[in-house]
Amino acid sequence: MKIAVAGAGLLGRLLAFQLSRSGHEVHVFDPAPHADARGAAGWTAAGMLSPVAELECADDFVFRLGLRSVELWPQLLGQLQVPVECRFDGSLLLAHRGDEGAARRVLDVLETKLASAGGSEAKNPGDALAGVRFADHQPTKLTAERLGELEPSVRGPAHAWLLPNEGRIHTVQAMQALVASAPQVQWHWDRTVDALGPGELRSGGTRRFDWVFDVRGTGARPELPVRGVRGEIFWLRAPGLQLTRPLRLLHPRHRVYLVPRAPDLVVVGASEIESEDRSPVSLRSTVELLAAAHSVVPELAEARIVHSETNLRPALPDNLPRLDTQRGITRINGLFRHGWLIAPALVERALQEMKP
Ligand SMILES: Cc1cc2nc3c(=O)[nH]c(=O)nc-3n(C[C@H](O)[C@H](O)[C@H](O)COP(=O)(O)OP(=O)(O)OC[C@H]3O[C@@H](n4cnc5c(N)ncnc54)[C@H](O)[C@@H]3O)c2cc1C
Repeated sequence: MKIAVAGAGLLGRLLAFQLSRSGHEVHVFDPAPHADARGAAGWTAAGMLSPVAELECADDFVFRLGLRSVELWPQLLGQLQVPVECRFDGSLLLAHRGDEGAARRVLDVLETKLASAGGSEAKNPGDALAGVRFADHQPTKLTAERLGELEPSVRGPAHAWLLPNEGRIHTVQAMQALVASAPQVQWHWDRTVDALGPGELRSGGTRRFDWVFDVRGTGARPELPVRGVRGEIFWLRAPGLQLTRPLRLLHPRHRVYLVPRAPDLVVVGASEIESEDRSPVSLRSTVELLAAAHSVVPELAEARIVHSETNLRPALPDNLPRLDTQRGITRINGLFRHGWLIAPALVERALQEMKP
């Protein structure tokens, strides 16, 4: 088929790569001036692949997509022509002494939602999660000794839990590798899509296709009621720091995480602000995020702040993802804070639903 993809963010790149591998003629349109221009939220993401931790603000559907994507990422990355850092060593939830209440609330939410996902699986034995042992996903409380063995540089928090099946991906490497590994795709940079419909897309003139994918993220208005949720992150350079797993601090006021990234970076994020302001990181977010990061890993005191970035997460009113297939057009949007976690499974479903 001759296929158009509107948007070259995370979803657009994944779709283009998969579709061209299947032999389709693929055209991708994006307002970015070139493949490395960092407009898409996909570039900014810290790259946590956290099906369980994300349950705090997600549902069963996201959890299922996340578990499936955790299976799909290694297969997918194995098909790329360029290596991408991606590891599944688990992640840690951490809490300071005195913050037990905030931590307990999050753990209760995770345990309740895990139990409900397990219950719905029992009712639907044909479900994609058949065979998943929910007990394997429960947070495990760590002793101070065990925490010291797993992550010796984590010094501040008094409480720690391991989520064993979680991981992380180097988002910048993956965004680049997806384009580099799809040379047959016709990438139309500097081309905004003004309108689209089944089998049709307008960018300058109107062009006909057999199928159109609308993955424009926050650019899909007014067709979808999507909004941008501001997120701010930092890259710290910390040579010699030993950190293997993503860390999340369970805090009464802030959501803060630290994600190691080769060779010597730690990504610290992320604010979540109901605003479409893309201006640079604020002083308040800087103070809150970096003070929290330092309280977890005191060794970061001498790290260098090498980069900060702001972007908008595409979110629908219910903050849940939406995949809508009609003849000649597929729309995927609302990946919010879990895009890297769920994109491979959503793309897999979208391709299964595409009938010529
Ligand atoms: C600070 C931050 C941290 C995050 N951390 C994580 C994380 O740790 N784990 C995780 O799973 N997710 C994370 N995310 C979320 C993830 O990045 C998003 O969910 C994901 O990028 C959404 O993918 P997308 O393809 O829908 O949108 P995007 O990646 O934003 O891509 C949309 C594309 O559409 C293009 N476009 C817009 N308008 C038009 C138009 N009119 N015509 C053509 N193209 C258009 C844009 O230029 C862009 O390239 C984070 C996001 C942010 C901002």
